[in-house]
Amino acid sequence: MALIVQKYGGTSVGTVERIEAVADRVARFRKEGHDVVVVVSAMSGETNRLIGLAHAITDNPTPREMDVLVSTGEQVTIALLAMALHKRGMGARSYTGGQVKILTDSAHTKARIQHIDDRNMRADLEQGNVVIVAGFQGVDEQGNITTLGRGGSDTTAVALAAALKADECQIYTDVDGVYTTDPRVVDSARRLEKITFEEMLEMASLGSKVLQIRSVEFAGKYNVPLRVLSSFEEGPGTLITLEDDETMEQPLVSGIAFNRDEAKLTLAGVPDVPGVASRILKPVSDANIEVDMIVQNVGKDNHTDFTFTVHRNDFKRTLEILEKTREELGAREVIGDDKIAKVSIVGVGMRSHAGVASKMFEKLSEEGINIQMISTSEIKVSVVIAEKYLELAVRALHSAFEMDKEPSERSY
Ligand code: ADP
Ligand code: ASP
Ligand code: MG
Repeated sequence: MALIVQKYGGTSVGTVERIEAVADRVARFRKEGHDVVVVVSAMSGETNRLIGLAHAITDNPTPREMDVLVSTGEQVTIALLAMALHKRGMGARSYTGGQVKILTDSAHTKARIQHIDDRNMRADLEQGNVVIVAGFQGVDEQGNITTLGRGGSDTTAVALAAALKADECQIYTDVDGVYTTDPRVVDSARRLEKITFEEMLEMASLGSKVLQIRSVEFAGKYNVPLRVLSSFEEGPGTLITLEDDETMEQPLVSGIAFNRDEAKLTLAGVPDVPGVASRILKPVSDANIEVDMIVQNVGKDNHTDFTFTVHRNDFKRTLEILEKTREELGAREVIGDDKIAKVSIVGVGMRSHAGVASKMFEKLSEEGINIQMISTSEIKVSVVIAEKYLELAVRALHSAFEMDKEPSERSY
């Protein structure tokens, strides 16, 4: 008999009927003799609703109070699911993050898990109870409620699975696995049977929201067997695995990720002297703004252009900072664009093949899509393009790399 951690996302617990369906599934596993720990999200839309309430009162809610507020969503679903299991004659007990106790640092709204006390959960499992834990939340040393960032219930689930040395961590969601790209954007996207931790990490950090980045990091680090499945239908889902040369097919491109959350800023006509990059970026990082892609053009007439991207939420603030830097450095102008998108192709197979990037660029140019920025690593190529071309670009690349076919049937 196995110990299984199951996580159900917002849509999967979005109504009372769906919570009942989750209870049926959990009860089935329990009756097969497995120990089950369930992690649930807030009902779909609830976290956004709570954030909306806060912003209806103030533009600047303190992070501590935001965590007190948004953590309530998950507290509702753990209790309702426990009641649904009781109705089915099952022993079940719900826990908030603090009750478990999931200890985190004090970085409100983006806290990191430091330690998980497994004693309460173990005691309940021993008594035959299903353990139900609120996702997304923890508690710091001082007893303050913290949350783990949007999508953080995935991370709760993987962290519990690691702490309990579970046999598998199952992430139940509204799609039946990880696809070559978001199936809501490309109809012909295919479900992947397996994907490596490394590829999944890239996909997640480049914008595929099917798993929170932190959860994949955790799973890789502690080698937690992780599977993404549908809560609406039966199926094998997608297994996230270690790279394995013998059994893994290694297609050149495993997936396409995209992200509309960034904005681009350029400081044009900057004097081309040593130290400029740091003088531009230091005030940005001092303001706690994360920079993603960076490009500095080749200098001409002792001047250069310096371009970088930040999260769209930080766009306005960064513009203000850059305007000050422009004056200090005597640069010509600040240009901002928040209508951009980043499209990335990801695949461990790229390591051993040249030409993937040029094929990507060629395809985009055939579609008349201008590439504004490029960044590459061993297993990914990312480009920034105008947001209006995003869906066209993703579909064109999906078909150019024949991702709608089985890897073995592709012509490259
Ligand atoms: P949950 O509420 O269960 O956590 P999410 O909305 O966070 O669900 O994640 C599931 C969604 O991720 C899907 O509905 C899908 O639109 C999106 N998604 C983005 N990229 C992918 C991908 N490559 N494979 C599968 N789903 C993807
Ligand atoms: N409810 C939280 C969110 O919407 C956490 C989660 O669903 O994983 O981000
Ligand atoms: Mg999610």
